Amino acid sequence: MSTIIIHHDDCTRHDPGPKHAESTQRVKAVLAGLDGLKGLEMLPAPRATAGQISLVHPPDFWSDITEKEPSEGVVAIDSDTFLSNGSVDAALRASGGLCFAIDQITEGKAFRAFCAVRPPGHHSEPEAAMGFCLLNHVAIGAHHALLNPTINRVAIIDFDVHHGNGTQAVFEHNPDVLFVSSHQMPLYPGSGHMDETGCGNILNLPLSPGDGSKKFRKAWRTLGLPAVQSFRPDLILISAGFDAHQRDPLGQIELQDADYHWITRQICELASDSCRGRVASILEGGYDLQALATASRAHVQALAS
Ligand SMILES: [Zn+2]
Repeated sequence: MSTIIIHHDDCTRHDPGPKHAESTQRVKAVLAGLDGLKGLEMLPAPRATAGQISLVHPPDFWSDITEKEPSEGVVAIDSDTFLSNGSVDAALRASGGLCFAIDQITEGKAFRAFCAVRPPGHHSEPEAAMGFCLLNHVAIGAHHALLNPTINRVAIIDFDVHHGNGTQAVFEHNPDVLFVSSHQMPLYPGSGHMDETGCGNILNLPLSPGDGSKKFRKAWRTLGLPAVQSFRPDLILISAGFDAHQRDPLGQIELQDADYHWITRQICELASDSCRGRVASILEGGYDLQALATASRAHVQALAS
């Protein structure tokens, strides 16, 4: 069985502007980075359905976004979140792509999955698009997975350099989902302290600027991964942001490609023990195109092995 790479050209249509870090070139860089890797199958991302979106976002929220989409130029939602023509389709392909990937895995048609899609999603709260994010894809994916009678518990692992405030907000009262996040603090969006524990299902692992590989790995080895193991998930989803990389302009944790390979291997080994190896990953942040290519290659190499 192949590891599937989910993508759609619509994901390049969301264009927040030429000076914006969340560039239309990001997914192209990721796909170029995967070039030559063996055992991968590319599949197109379908659009999310209204029913899938409504698992997380109220219909009024999404109709408001779709009505604001301009035919040309950009419309600001907040100081760093924008809509262009094509933004709605891009976000729909990203959420729909993850739901499709989860179905492929649970139906035994795929080994693991990586969704090379954008815009990112983990900052988006049920009623607030923010932080470059429109729909919260990983939250939609987790809720979609829980509709499958064979999946009672989903663990979401988020190693983006920013805290996934939106994902935390969706699940902080839902004991069927464990959310574990490592992120730089202080940094946008400001949430993600260790005392934010939800109903015992949230584990935040804040790191300091300059912490590097050693402290990142220690946090996951001693706290994050054991928590996932104890939770006994039926599926693991990864919010795979690569902006903790040493080259990234937005974060200062100073990780290297090998760290992304390491954390992904740890997750996959844990998944083999607890949930028949079922792991689906989705691109979140990562704003240096070169680092995005090499780090996502390391991530997918580990996913596929
Ligand atoms: Zn980020």
